[in-house]
Order: sequence, then structure tokens, then C-alpha cells
Amino acid sequence: RAKETGKNRIILFQEEMAEASERLLELKEDSRNALRRDEFHLVFQPQVDARDRKILGAEALLRWTHPSRGMVSPGEFIPLLEDGEMMPLVGQKVIELAAAQLADWRKEGLIREDFRLSLNVSPQQFRQADFVSTVRTVLDEHDLPAYLIDLEITEGMIIDNIDHTVAAMKELREMGIHFSIDDFGTGYSNLNYLKRLPLDVLKVDQSFVRDIEHDANDTAIVRTIIAMADQLKLNTVAEGVETEDQLTLLRELGCQVFQGYLYSPPLKNVEFASLLKTQISEPE
Ligand code: C2E
Ligand code: MG
Ligand code: MG
Ligand code: MG
Repeated sequence: RAKETGKNRIILFQEEMAEASERLLELKEDSRNALRRDEFHLVFQPQVDARDRKILGAEALLRWTHPSRGMVSPGEFIPLLEDGEMMPLVGQKVIELAAAQLADWRKEGLIREDFRLSLNVSPQQFRQADFVSTVRTVLDEHDLPAYLIDLEITEGMIIDNIDHTVAAMKELREMGIHFSIDDFGTGYSNLNYLKRLPLDVLKVDQSFVRDIEHDANDTAIVRTIIAMADQLKLNTVAEGVETEDQLTLLRELGCQVFQGYLYSPPLKNVEFASLLKTQISEPE
């Protein structure tokens, strides 16, 4: 009997493996047409003041609605797009969608000049020789000031090609673009680059936030990241904040801004717009 069960388990496992690889193949194939079929859209997660919870900005997160499989998460489809070298084109689409959205919100009077929309940039996208001019063109098309945009880059991208990174960032900074380091502390933290780059924000990765009240190591790491950010005159944004206890501790450690399910999950554009409207109508 035990043997039977074992055998069944193996068969089940093989079926699951086959299904998973079938799904991956299908997604990979279909991701090549997703841009043309207009299957991408952005959702927006509010970034809020850690003290009064006023909305200071948002992070734009990419979503893919597959025609038969439904919503696919970026964790699954971005590696596929990078594999097929589609990421630069999709990344450009992200900038276009974001700029169009910002222009709309601005026209409706929903955002002020100090609002920031953060966009994730992929290594492949950032490596493109024409990345800077692409950003400039899209902003011009929408008559949008660059300071409304914050680009999230990762530690890996900086190490990858430090000279190109520094040069491109400086050019973008001159235009007025802001920069954050995403998932800070999870990559190769070469502290030397921190002072060489025109940065505004360190984003404390959610892996340090998850157990922050229970894990003394995580508390110490976050305390250190925030102290270092202070020294370098950078702001800190905590990611993945889900509980009041996490927020209280983060605030005590000096974190200024947070995003996470505690305040709001990523929202569709109209939902985010109504949230902005309620904030505007509130008395100061
Ligand atoms: P990320 O930039 O670190 O984004 C944060 C992720 O955490 C998002 O997942 C967000 O939905 C999720 N999150 C937010 N609040 C909470 C929370 O309270 N608890 C938990 N457990 N998770 C939370 P998402 O949207 O699935 O994106 C995953 C990753 O995909 C992003 O990580 C980013 O690296 C990448 N990504 C998303 N959009 C884009 C894009 O437009 N371009 C590029 N290159 N990468 C993107
Ligand atoms: Mg991000
Ligand atoms: Mg992040
Ligand atoms: Mg993260």
C-alpha cells in the first residue's frame, strides 16, 4: 500500500511538473504578443507619510492579463520577457502608460507638484543606449515635468555597469528625475556607489520588514539602513508593511514613508484617483 501511494505520488508530481512547464512555455510564447495586443496595464500602490498617512506618491506596478490564463504576476512574466529580450520595449510601455496617467491626474487637479510616481526599471531596459532620450521624449509628449517621476533601480544594475549607470543617472537627474534604490539590502550592497550616485531614497526591502518586531537581526539591519540613509541625506521608504506593529517600530526607527497592505494594496487607476479625491477634500 505504502508503495502504491508512493507511486501515485510520483505520477501526480510528474503531472504537475508537466503542467507547470506547459504553462511556462505558453506564457513565454504569448508574452511575445502581449504588447501588440495591449494586454499590459499599471496598478498603483500609495506611498504614504509614516506619521499622518498622507499620500505622497505611488509605485506603478505592471500587470499582464493573459487572454486565457488571466492575471499573471510580474514575478512570473518579467523573467520570461527578459529571456525573450522583450523587457526594454515593455519597459518603454510602462513609461508611456505612467506619463499618460500622470498627465491625466494633473489635468484633473488630483496631484500637486511634490507628488512622485515611482517606476521600476529593469536592468535590460536601463542598459539601452537610448534610455535617457526615451524618457525625455515621453515626458515631452505629455508636457510633463520630470520631477514627478522617480525611477527605482536595483543594486545589481549599478554593479553591472557602473560607468554607464552613473552617466545615465546624472543626465536624468539634470532633467529633474528622482531615483530610489529598490529592495535595498538584498543585493551586493557596495556602499561606495551610494555616495557617487544622485539618489533620493533607499527602499527597505520587505524581507526585513516581515518579521521586524520579532527578529532582532531584522530590527538591527533596518536601524542601520535608516541611520546610513540619514547620514547620506536620503529618505527611506519601507516596503511591504502589513501591520500596525511593524509601522510603529519603523516609525520609531526613523522611517519616513511606507507602502504596504496596511494602508492599501496596489489599486486600479480609477480607485487610486478616488483615494486622491478623498484626500483633497479632507481639511488640513
Ligand atoms: P517591487 O518593486 O519590490 O514591488 C513590491 C512588490 O510587493 C509588489 O509586487 C507589490 O504588489 C508587493 N507588495 C506591496 N505591498 C505588500 C505587502 O504589504 N505585503 C506583501 N507581501 N507584498 C506587498 P508585484 O506587483 O507582484 O511586483 C513584483 C516585482 O516585479 C516588483 O517588486 C518589481 O521588482 C517587479 N515589477 C513590477 N512592475 C514592474 C515594472 O513595471 N517594470 C519592472 N522592470 N519590474 C516590475
Ligand atoms: Mg519597486
Ligand atoms: Mg521593492
Ligand atoms: Mg521588493
